[in-house]
Amino acid sequence: MEKWDSSAGTSAFHMPEWMIQFADQKQEFNKRPTKIGRRSLSRSISQSSTDSYSSEERPKQLSVGSSLPYSAQANAKGTLSAPKEAMKIWLAHPAASYTDSSDDETSPRDKQQKNSKGSSDFCVKNIKQAEFGRREIEIAEQEMPALMALRKRAQGEKPLAGAKIVGCTHITAQTAVLMETLGALGAQCRWAACNIYSTLNEVAAALAESGFPVFAWKGESEDDFWWCIDRCVNVEGWQPNMILDDGGDLTHWIYKKYPNMFKKIKGIVEESVTGVHRLYQLSKAGKLCVPAMNVNDSVTKQKFDNLYCCRESILDGLKRTTDMMFGGKQVVVCGYGEVGKGCCAALKAMGSIVYVTEIDPICALQACMDGFRLVKLNEVIRQVDIVITCTGNKNVVTREHLDRMKNSCIVCNMGHSNTEIDVASLRTPELTWERVRSQVDHVIWPDGKRIVLLAEGRLLNLSCSTVPTFVLSITATTQALALIELYNAPEGRYKQDVYLLPKKMDEYVASLHLPTFDAHLTELTDEQAKYLGLNKNGPFKPNYYRY
Ligand code: NAD
Repeated sequence: MEKWDSSAGTSAFHMPEWMIQFADQKQEFNKRPTKIGRRSLSRSISQSSTDSYSSEERPKQLSVGSSLPYSAQANAKGTLSAPKEAMKIWLAHPAASYTDSSDDETSPRDKQQKNSKGSSDFCVKNIKQAEFGRREIEIAEQEMPALMALRKRAQGEKPLAGAKIVGCTHITAQTAVLMETLGALGAQCRWAACNIYSTLNEVAAALAESGFPVFAWKGESEDDFWWCIDRCVNVEGWQPNMILDDGGDLTHWIYKKYPNMFKKIKGIVEESVTGVHRLYQLSKAGKLCVPAMNVNDSVTKQKFDNLYCCRESILDGLKRTTDMMFGGKQVVVCGYGEVGKGCCAALKAMGSIVYVTEIDPICALQACMDGFRLVKLNEVIRQVDIVITCTGNKNVVTREHLDRMKNSCIVCNMGHSNTEIDVASLRTPELTWERVRSQVDHVIWPDGKRIVLLAEGRLLNLSCSTVPTFVLSITATTQALALIELYNAPEGRYKQDVYLLPKKMDEYVASLHLPTFDAHLTELTDEQAKYLGLNKNGPFKPNYYRY
């Protein structure tokens, strides 16, 4: 078998033989669990995620068996065994999510917790939730075929042996599958959350239980957020040599507090538009001290995670928080990039009247050609029912806009940072804030007008709903390959700059996901390959191709 690290060839990543042999994968992925068929798995995903996100919205009267989280339901039917501790909590507090616990008010920072092996090198909400989290991770594994294939195929071969990865991403079941894959590939990981609301507590507990130092819980304060990041990097006897970041906060923290760490760091893998933007700024200023991989702009991330993920999750986030009906509602979507396109498509399909704002004439023209009215925010702000930002920019919705919105207007953000809506401007004495549900605030003006602010302007889908595992599988596989590439690249291949993932790896990520659809890819004949001037195994498109 070939080595992972190979400097041969023009492609930065010389894939081992098995990485381009996709044919036998089909059989492997077709082997679905027989007991809990695919349909029930997807049901369980939505069921359990509702449970973990909307405890305050749950009706008080629930009957055991119909409204228990999936795992507990299964237990009632005798198919799976739910952890006794959590079942007790559930039966005692049927209106509560199974992530709740009696000492819920205590900050995890004030708790003394140990996993079953005696380690206390983690900080999560409640380590006792680990079994539920494990179940979520196992469910996610079913929809993450590529990572599972990487794990399986890399048995014996450890392309990340010696890698010490510090990560800062959303901590969900899908991230857990990524982390455990990185572990299987030989890496040591320490992890914090990149968003104070998006952590699935039971998943964080499961990771901590299986020995991953995870520092994250849902509902961290701003101070907790930085404390958790610091606990990941400021460790006696352990120094990271790789960074996996989503949003750039971890990278920023290391730059600010521990710049010397960069001497040992081999590279940064960054997922978000925002984080990548910061990296390019650092690079431009000559301050980037290690190579960085821009995962966001790899086709398999941008065209799938940003577009399809948001297309599927925007409605979910709005629905879970507001129970609103979309048909006939007037919505303005700020930004018609990948995320905006996904949001607009979903809302249009539901019968909403969608307006778009844009600064870029190309995206603006796309919006027009797709049948959306291009407007300035000011022109529609008085009439719209929903305002959604997805620009990656700041102060897109200002206090002036908020003042002019109509009563009950819903305001939310799908961009990475909470900078798009000027939420700080709403914290003034004349306005009253009323927390009406988890992640839902009514901000009330002196004349009684109220706007409905979701997740305090933080990204809606990851704060208030879940996102499709399969799409995240694509992104996570891209991240894993980017880490492998940077970690194994021989000196000199990458300079202190920001790079895109080699095209062939992008194509490889896509290939790993095709068997799920029983998709049959056409192979070039020798004659055709010659005619097009292509290698039969790819890459199939030039880097400038836009898909
Ligand atoms: P993008 O660059 O493709 O699109 C952003 C668009 O906003 C651009 O077309 C830009 O011209 C436009 N824009 C910038 N400032 C504007 C303004 N003031 N008014 C109107 N339009 C403006 O980026 P993207 O991939 O669509 O990502 C957008 C944001 O969403 C980023 O912050 C990204 O990190 C985040 N994101 C969120 C999710 C999610 O699941 N919620 C997924 C992927 C990315």
